[in-house]
Amino acid sequence: MRYVSTRGGVEPMTFSQAVMMGLATDGGLLLPERIPVSAPAVLRQWSGLTFQQLAVEVMALFMTPGDPVAGRLEELVIRSFATFTHPEVTPVTPVGEHWLLELFHGPTLAFKDVALQLLGNLFEALLADHGGQMNILGATSGDTGSAAIHGVRGKKGIRIFILHPHGRVSPIQERQMTTVLDSNVHNIAIRGSFDDGQRIVKELFNDLAFKETYRLGAVNSINWARILAQIVYYFYAWARTADGNTERKAAFSVPTGNFGDIFAGYMAMRMGLPVDRLVLATNCNDILVRFMETGVYRAGTVQPSLSPSMDIQISSNFERFLYYLLGEDAEAVRERMTRLQQEGLFAIGEEKRREAAAIFTARRVSEEATLHRIHATWMAHGILLDPHTAVGVEAAREFPGMICLATAHPAKFGMAVERAIGMPPAMPPALEGLLSLPARCRVVAPETEAVRKCIRESAG
Ligand SMILES: *Cc1c(COP(=O)(O)O)cnc(C)c1O
Repeated sequence: MRYVSTRGGVEPMTFSQAVMMGLATDGGLLLPERIPVSAPAVLRQWSGLTFQQLAVEVMALFMTPGDPVAGRLEELVIRSFATFTHPEVTPVTPVGEHWLLELFHGPTLAFKDVALQLLGNLFEALLADHGGQMNILGATSGDTGSAAIHGVRGKKGIRIFILHPHGRVSPIQERQMTTVLDSNVHNIAIRGSFDDGQRIVKELFNDLAFKETYRLGAVNSINWARILAQIVYYFYAWARTADGNTERKAAFSVPTGNFGDIFAGYMAMRMGLPVDRLVLATNCNDILVRFMETGVYRAGTVQPSLSPSMDIQISSNFERFLYYLLGEDAEAVRERMTRLQQEGLFAIGEEKRREAAAIFTARRVSEEATLHRIHATWMAHGILLDPHTAVGVEAAREFPGMICLATAHPAKFGMAVERAIGMPPAMPPALEGLLSLPARCRVVAPETEAVRKCIRESAG
């Protein structure tokens, strides 16, 4: 299996090379050259497997036997999901006439752990092969930073530098980052905004000499390995709810921001998983809903919401779907992305729009409806939803039997939950005591040179 760019400008590469490259060097995203399809008999066989066994089967399809990590896949998978507190890793539980696919049993209690626990181990294994070192650099508004830090803490050959806006992330989010005291973890609080952090990171990545010298790497949702890890739980959830009946179709509702999670569902479908609907649920930041309705992809301004991990303007993974929608025509993708950059929008024809809308049922969910869904689910079933999950459950309301992806633990977003039900959620053991643990963090001015200095000193 080889990997190509959505913009057609890189030589085909192996799985391991794609993981190390992250963003393709031509600015595009990496995808497998072809999508492996599994027959119904294979699906039936898979439905008896544990999450870890299934992960090995699914991931092996995306690499060649000679790939540097292919022979160690089982060991890597076992290590990656050993940090989850539920024996099933991603259990499926009933809630009224729907199912909840619980993706929040990892170390930071959000679904990003599923992918980032694996990615950390993949990086470590690949670096060990070359005796290499890498420095991961990223800016976060909360969730991704903590999941990335927990993914690489204590890993050989990797240092991580995560920028967050000083005093502007929730106390829990801040503590989930700054109480990780492993010597390879560097938290940097910027006296500024999330945008300042992003700008600084971008400037350092654009300094090619610096990037080269310090072997800067990224962990954002464009890495192919993150999508791959997420494909697994679509198969797993189907198996848990269909009882091995390959005639039985599943439908998923996915709280969406950067389009990574729902794109994994699309890939599972293309691989032969019987799926009859993917509900694309957004909050008021609805660029994807507007695209499905009008065929025009137009960036707006980000509005803060109760579900902050879905507050995005541009969905970075959408380019992967666009590539398939445009018939794997890299030239056509490049043309659309150039237009987006220059004019702030692009359009596809009505025929293509319909094709997309036949796969994704897009729904925008208001803040009021989100709060109402948390309250109603609590009253009716005694189950607490976090605001992101509530967006997906609300969007699935008209379709009984859906599998709703539960992307975060409610205690992580306690303020929204308290607004909805009048009391704060109970603290799980992973969060209890977090506020009194020792923490380490440097506070610096919102300037590129200040961050560069931190990296130089620590990575020297
Ligand atoms: C990141 C995130 C999402 C959105 O996932 P995408 O892959 O960006 O679409 C939803 N819920 C939570 C809790 C998240 O952290």
